[in-house]
Amino acid sequence: MALLMRTDGASQIVIIGSGIAGLFCAIRLADAGFFVKVITKQRPIDSSTNWAQGGIAAILDKTDGIGLASHIEDTLKSGDGQCDSSVVNSVIREASDRIQDLLNIGVNFEKSADGEFHLAKEGGHSDRRILHSKDATGKEIERALSQTAEQHENIDLMPNTLAIDLIQLQHGNPSAGIAGVWCLDQNNQEVITVHADTLILATGGFGQLWHQTTNPSVATGDGLAMAYRAGARVKNLAYIQFHPTALATKSDSPFLITEAMRGEGGVILDDEGLERWQLQCKKDGVIISPEPFSFTLKHSQMGSMATRDIVARAIDKQLKITGKPHVYLVTSHLDEALLNSHFPTIRARLETHGLKLGHDPLPISPAAHYAVGGLEVDEIGRPYNRENGEVYPRLYAIGEVACTGMHGANRLASNSLLEAVVYASRAAEHIILNPPNSYQKQLPTWRADGLNSLSEHGPVVHDKNELRQTMSQEVGIVRRFSRLNRAARRLELLGQEVNRLWIESIPTRPIIELRNLTLVGQLVTKDAIARTENCGLHFNQDLVKE
Ligand SMILES: Cc1cc2nc3c(=O)[nH]c(=O)nc-3n(C[C@H](O)[C@H](O)[C@H](O)COP(=O)(O)OP(=O)(O)OC[C@H]3O[C@@H](n4cnc5c(N)ncnc54)[C@H](O)[C@@H]3O)c2cc1C
Repeated sequence: MALLMRTDGASQIVIIGSGIAGLFCAIRLADAGFFVKVITKQRPIDSSTNWAQGGIAAILDKTDGIGLASHIEDTLKSGDGQCDSSVVNSVIREASDRIQDLLNIGVNFEKSADGEFHLAKEGGHSDRRILHSKDATGKEIERALSQTAEQHENIDLMPNTLAIDLIQLQHGNPSAGIAGVWCLDQNNQEVITVHADTLILATGGFGQLWHQTTNPSVATGDGLAMAYRAGARVKNLAYIQFHPTALATKSDSPFLITEAMRGEGGVILDDEGLERWQLQCKKDGVIISPEPFSFTLKHSQMGSMATRDIVARAIDKQLKITGKPHVYLVTSHLDEALLNSHFPTIRARLETHGLKLGHDPLPISPAAHYAVGGLEVDEIGRPYNRENGEVYPRLYAIGEVACTGMHGANRLASNSLLEAVVYASRAAEHIILNPPNSYQKQLPTWRADGLNSLSEHGPVVHDKNELRQTMSQEVGIVRRFSRLNRAARRLELLGQEVNRLWIESIPTRPIIELRNLTLVGQLVTKDAIARTENCGLHFNQDLVKE
């Protein structure tokens, strides 16, 4: 039975975000007797977590030295020499405990007929080690976490509440720490001041910076931008993971086709490869493997099963060579019934486009998917003060908003849910062992007096389009200095325009998000320009050594 600490003077923990990181942390703290407010932009389930398909990578048997070593090795390899190996080691060794926590909370992972967990394999993994709930793992995790949080007497879920800016205990002095957050209550469009003795950012990523993205609309980099404005340090923002296999149809926003589909044998072909493979099958009178016909083999001997960065770049290059809008993911050589049973969500979505899994070639192209960089944090999720490098008091960042060093220059598939849950647990444990003092300071109210509502929303929509177009064209998968510099100049101008709008009008969700996206776009571009070598997800054509 949880203790209730909702008493006068009790410390107040505020978490922004209700994905896996935010909700797991909230439940852990609430179980320990803390009162936790969870602020979230839309409904609690609206998050990238809810859209995760493939699963969560974990070695369940702590004594399986070979399995642990292999997961560590795959992660380090994917990170292209940039991972913090002690972080990788510790996160992977902690995985089985955190999976047990998720099971205790009520998450159901798929089991085989023998009662053992069914483990999937994805690109970059040398073994089957991914727990999943068919192809809707995130939905199942989010279901269990949000139901538990909603029923918990120590958790106050605040949906439709959009965090705008962090409040420092002493304005302009990051060393004094965070004291709260201003939020837009979207039920009545009023700005409210929320006091926090400790504030945890779990706001996810910023895929909405690009036109083609697998991310939900809430992924606008708000937490990153808020913390940056408050003086926190960011790291590795140039490392943006583009998912190679997003369904590319004219009538729909990109829909992810999980990497597990390639793990089950799906192969990527261009038009020419598809034609050659089909001809060969006809000639031989049997269906042969399409893999030898894949252009991806020119880029890696792992072909379609290479890591995401390699496959995404290979597709990007092929699309530029052929001028076509997409390539294909081919599954017709695989067992159709098995695919339909493993991937029911994808099957249903494909059917809305008249496509049949295990039958039709699926049109795919890459889409912005995951932010590897973020707020640089220590081993328990504490960001740093940008000025002096010290830990930022009373602030934590967990999940995709953070950069822990786990992913290096490229995230291995299904490692992000794992990293999020591990750091959520660590931050919570640290707070439990070091409860924050309650200091109930009178906080300043928002400065909206005298401001006007924006009379025309046209400029906001237009500026957002321009921002996304610039990022998509100039700061995409394959970069060049000339294009990056062009982007930097355009974003500078855009930033000034957005700032003018921001200063003059009462905040609305579109302006708040545009302000954050513009800042994050500038930071991503700046980091990309500063890089003198290609590594992992950062690929600048001008840096290719002949
Ligand atoms: C389509 C898709 C498939 C994926 N598949 C996998 C997979 O199979 N395995 C894997 O490991 N990873 C996968 N990922 C990545 C993984 O889902 C995310 O990295 C992870 O869920 C991030 O969790 P999070 O808690 O940090 O953020 P999220 O789950 O994105 O949650 C962020 C929360 O913050 C809230 N928020 C944001 N800004 C504000 C604000 N200003 N005010 C209030 N609330 C705010 C949002 O509304 C949301 O509730 C996938 C991602 C996508 C998009």
